Amino acid sequence: MSARLLDGRALARGIVDDLRDEVGALSRAGLPQPTIAVVRVGNDPASVRYASQIERAFLGAAMGFRLEALPESTDDADLARVLAALAADPTVNGILLQFPLPPRLSRERAVEAIDPAKDVDGVSPLNAGRLFVGRGHYFAPATPLGGIEILRRSGIQIAGRHAVVVGRSEIVGRPLAMLLLGEHATVTICHSRTPDLAHFTRDASILAVAVGRPGMISGDMVAPGAVVLDFGINVVDGKLVGDVDQAVVSSVAGAITPVPGGTGPMTNAMLLSNTLEAAKRQSSRARSIR
Ligand code: NDP
Repeated sequence: MSARLLDGRALARGIVDDLRDEVGALSRAGLPQPTIAVVRVGNDPASVRYASQIERAFLGAAMGFRLEALPESTDDADLARVLAALAADPTVNGILLQFPLPPRLSRERAVEAIDPAKDVDGVSPLNAGRLFVGRGHYFAPATPLGGIEILRRSGIQIAGRHAVVVGRSEIVGRPLAMLLLGEHATVTICHSRTPDLAHFTRDASILAVAVGRPGMISGDMVAPGAVVLDFGINVVDGKLVGDVDQAVVSSVAGAITPVPGGTGPMTNAMLLSNTLEAAKRQSSRARSIR
């Protein structure tokens, strides 16, 4: 049996088309162009590539893009000043701070300086906390949100199923586990100190993997018929591969996201969606103040 392919690229295209239509309608109704500001300190090559991808995605959806490229010499206070200025700028609806920061800078101070109302990648403590308690308005990080959206739009039931998340990073594994819990899955979180990983992964009816180790999930670690979300992005011999041994696992699983073309394209779609949502919330707040 070959697993059903969960085509994130096609799903993302559909979402972006819908968002573009909505942006057009809102603009005709007088809403200013929803705009994201990407903040980068230094010139990490992966961050430079990611910022260009975000720019293409935003321009393609008729949304605004601004880049704040700060020099490597930026210190914590400079970065906090830039983030405060973006918080106060009514033409900016979303703020995305790129990681990794240069080692001298404090990630903690930086994420605390991001306005939660514009924090479209859900890294500020307020958004992370609201996701954790499952209450109030919050923005969830785009990558795990994209994983949930793949399941929803593919008609895959989450409630009541055992979801196993491998990886507990702040930006993928942990928030994904919270989103799955919010959807009423029974959730197990595994990490580098989990003994006998296969014991847990084999029990998953939804298996999500965000580790960064090419092909670490082999066919014998997956239950027949399971749904597999592969978040891994690794380059091996110049090719993009996931954390799951796609060739073998595809013959065991019931459904699987490919790499490339699975969870990756959904990340940008969710960033667009969160930015549009932020713009709508900000404009209704502005209306209620006037
Ligand atoms: P991190 O390095 O921050 O986290 C990796 C996680 O994997 C950690 O929690 C670590 O455990 C765990 N881990 C490491 N080794 C093992 C092991 N042998 N068994 C079980 N768990 C292990 O990575 P990210 O979460 O940032 O990224 C993970 C992957 O997702 C990467 O390939 C990255 O490129 C990709 N990614 C994809 C995105 C997309 O759009 N699809 C966006 C962001 C990332 P511990 O906490 O104990 O150290």
